[in-house]
Amino acid sequence: MRSFELKTSAFAFHDISAQVKLAVRESGVKEGICVVYCPHTTAAITINENADPDVQRDLKLALIDAFGDSDRPEFRHFEGNSHAHLKSSLIGASETIPIANGSLMLGTWQGVYFCEFDGPRNRKFYVQVLEGRD
Ligand code: ZN
Repeated sequence: MRSFELKTSAFAFHDISAQVKLAVRESGVKEGICVVYCPHTTAAITINENADPDVQRDLKLALIDAFGDSDRPEFRHFEGNSHAHLKSSLIGASETIPIANGSLMLGTWQGVYFCEFDGPRNRKFYVQVLEGRD
């Protein structure tokens, strides 16, 4: 398993596709699956469009519409960052991507993103590559 470190911005989608591709290449696995996992409760991993940065901007706006960017008065979590925990649970802590012929089967417009909802922070993510059959 490969681990990577990342310095994040306040509320941002960081493109980690290059690191994930590197981990797959270094594994030598030609057919299998790749799991990208984030061990944090106010961050997440997602796959989305990597061509138009306005997609990330719009996703950010929609998440703020849904959960706000600060806590509602009725929230009880002592840290005051429940809005970030909610976004993390909605998006999810991991993505699984098939590997064929040594490459991730990402679509032309897909990138892998580390989603920060409570930064800036020093974060980690893991890439586990598992060999399978073709
Ligand atoms: Zn918290």
